Amino acid sequence: MTAFIEAASPHVMNTYGRVPIALARGQGCRVWDVNGKEYLDALGGIAVNTLGHNHPKLVPALQDQLTKLIHTSNYYHSPLQEALAAKLVERSGMTNVFFCNSGLEANEAAIKIARKYGVDKGIAKPEIVVYEKAFHGRSIATMSATGNPKIYSGFGPLVEGFIRVPLNDIEAIKQRTEGNPNVVAVFFETIQGEGGVNPTRIEYLQQLRALCDERGWLMMIDEVQCGMGRTGKWFAHQWAGIVPDVMPLAKGLGSGVPIGAVVAGPKAANVLQPGNHGTTFGGNQLAMRAGNETIRIMEEEGLLENAATVGAHLKAALQRELGSLPGVKEIRGQGLMLGIELNKPCGALTGRAAEAGLLISVTADSVIRLVPSLILTVAEADEIVAKLTPLVKAILAE
Ligand SMILES: *Cc1c(COP(=O)(O)O)cnc(C)c1O
Repeated sequence: MTAFIEAASPHVMNTYGRVPIALARGQGCRVWDVNGKEYLDALGGIAVNTLGHNHPKLVPALQDQLTKLIHTSNYYHSPLQEALAAKLVERSGMTNVFFCNSGLEANEAAIKIARKYGVDKGIAKPEIVVYEKAFHGRSIATMSATGNPKIYSGFGPLVEGFIRVPLNDIEAIKQRTEGNPNVVAVFFETIQGEGGVNPTRIEYLQQLRALCDERGWLMMIDEVQCGMGRTGKWFAHQWAGIVPDVMPLAKGLGSGVPIGAVVAGPKAANVLQPGNHGTTFGGNQLAMRAGNETIRIMEEEGLLENAATVGAHLKAALQRELGSLPGVKEIRGQGLMLGIELNKPCGALTGRAAEAGLLISVTADSVIRLVPSLILTVAEADEIVAKLTPLVKAILAE
C-alpha cells in the first residue's frame, strides 16, 4: 500500500498519534494526499476550516493582504482589529475584544480577566468553577482547568484556584460553592468538544446566568470550538437567549489562519488595563483580515443557515442509519458539531475512515466527532453517512 506513510519523522516530536497519510491540497470539503488519493473532509482541520479549503473569495483576499502587511505589532492602532472587534461585538451583544493566536491563549486571557476581576473586588485568592470532561487547552493554566487526567497527568503541580463540578447540575454547583466568598467566575464550553460532544442544556445555561448575576460571578463561555456559526447561530449559547461576560474564540474564526479572541461584556471589558496583558503576534494584519473576510463570506453565503440545515440533515441521516444499532449509545450535538457515542473505544476508526476516503476524529475514546466545514452540502453529508455506516457496523461487530 504505497498510499501510506511508512515511518514517523525522526525530527518532528512524537506528540501525535497520526493517521498515516500526508495531505497535499484541498478544494471545498475535499482534500487529496501526496499520492493523489481523495478524501471527504468531515473534520475541517478540527472545526477550523469554516469556509473549506481554497475558498474562491477567501484566498484572493489573503493574497491581497500579504502584499500589504502581514504583521506590525500592537504598538500601533490597527483598523483591521477594530473592524473585526466591531463585527464580533455586534454579533455577540458584548462590548470589547482582545486578540491573540489560539484557543488556549484566549482561555489564558479569560482566566487572567477572572482573577483580576476578583482581586479588584478585594478577593485575594480568586477561584473559578470548571467542569468535568471540559477541555480548555494545553498550557499549564488551561490544562489545569481541563477535566481530563489524560491531558494533565505528568505535568503537575497544577495551577490552583479551580473548583470542578458536573455539567448540567445546578444543585451541584450551588453545593460546591456554598459559603465560598472566593468564587469569581464559571468557565465552560456550551458544547464540550474534546470531552465527547456533550451539550450544556438550555435551562442549565439560563439557571447559570441567573446564578452568576445573583452572586456577581463572571460567566465565561469557551466557544473556541462550538462558536463561529457551527451550531447555526453565531455562538452556541445564543440558543439559550443568554449573553456571557467573557467569551474566548479561536478555531473557526480565521478559517484556517491562526487566530484567537476574547470577547468581553461590560462587567469584564475594562478589567485589563495597559500593561496587564499582551501578545506579539496576536491581532496581526493577516489574521485580522482572515477573521473579517470569514465573517463577511459566511454572511454572503448564508453559512449559519447552511450549518443548521445540513447539520440537521446529517444528524437525522446518522440517526436513521446508526441510531438503532445496539452499541450506538447516542447521537448528539447541534448543527455541524455532531458526536456518535459507541459502547466501546473506537479510535481505530480514524485510520479506517481515511482508508475509505473520509476524514473524521474520535474523541473521549468512544465518540466519533464530525466537525466539517460550514460549506458542507446535503450530498456531502449523505456521503459521510454512506462511508461511515459500514465502518461503524464493522467495529461494533468485532
Ligand atoms: C481546541 C480547543 C481549545 C484549545 O485551542 P488551541 O488553539 O488548540 O490552543 C480550547 N478550548 C476548546 C473548547 C477547544 O475546542
